[in-house]
Amino acid sequence: MSHRLFVALASLGMATITYATTPVLVIHGGSGVIKRDMTPAKEKAVRAAMSKALLDGYAQLKAGKPALDAVTTALTVLEDDADFNAGKGSVFTHDGKTDMDAAIMDGDSLRAGSVAGVHRVKNPILLARAVMEHSSHVMLSGDGAEAFAKEQGIALVDPSYFHTDQRWQQLQKALKEDAAKQPHADVATAKHFGTVGAVALDSEGHLAAGTSTGGMTDKRWGRIGDSPIIGAGTYANAQCAVSGTGWGEFYIRTVAAHEICMKVSMLNEPIQRAAAEVINQEIPSMGGNGGAIALDSDGNIAMPFNTDGMYRGWIGADGVPHVAIYDDEPDPSNHAQPPAEASSAD
Ligand code: ASP
Repeated sequence: MSHRLFVALASLGMATITYATTPVLVIHGGSGVIKRDMTPAKEKAVRAAMSKALLDGYAQLKAGKPALDAVTTALTVLEDDADFNAGKGSVFTHDGKTDMDAAIMDGDSLRAGSVAGVHRVKNPILLARAVMEHSSHVMLSGDGAEAFAKEQGIALVDPSYFHTDQRWQQLQKALKEDAAKQPHADVATAKHFGTVGAVALDSEGHLAAGTSTGGMTDKRWGRIGDSPIIGAGTYANAQCAVSGTGWGEFYIRTVAAHEICMKVSMLNEPIQRAAAEVINQEIPSMGGNGGAIALDSDGNIAMPFNTDGMYRGWIGADGVPHVAIYDDEPDPSNHAQPPAEASSAD
């Protein structure tokens, strides 16, 4: 059932009909091997950061701002937090550098912007948005993207800003494993984990999606994942918005985010079913893993994952941020939806 508030205003025998949508914001902070061995302090910090991202993003929606603003606000909070694999906390490449990817898409206009392989951009999601809004292109990469960032007044930082001990140790561990085995033979090393994503529905009923990531630890040769590829890790149209997280090569090969949205738009599938078919069937059947968040224009939420856990959160009519990490936490789907309401006034 639709959750749209239906308000009919009648005056002088002429009816004006106004629709207002109850806003919803859904985020993820990555999928992967998430064991219950995080220190309580770390778990508390992760949950607090997710809550802040939800509250800050939702404040935009409550103020009547577009879904794009909620997505960029929420993702900027997570990019600035070293616990997530995006912006500040990005993982290291094989060569000990950071190589970040991000994308954003506006479901209403189908405009999109993305950046790949940037090293000095403090908030890659802001640059992706600038590409969408202030260039005639969709995707910029590397040095060219950073030259555009400079022109746009987007903050650039010294690469040392992205150096965190936690990520450095993860790279050392991955390098040791690589020396002993085939690269990527063991996905349980959680080389991909902590990517951040957001999907939002604004009060005008428009959807947007965004994703930002440092990619996979130990990646080489300018590897680009699914996150900045429109349709693979990030996609939005009028009916559906998706941000993925997981082993990017499989999301590219299944064009995962677009696939979910086409099932919703073209086949009229409920979003939970559409997302589950891609994340819980298609991707694992090919040997991939990960999760996604998905939202439809009625505010229905899907958050499937085929890994041990996925950092995920949602906020809707109750204005309360809900955060979950492990797979045995309650299924959040539909929690953000208010019951359908109809009222009339004169
Ligand atoms: N999908 C990202 C990539 O492959 C990684 C992740 O989601 O954690 O680059």
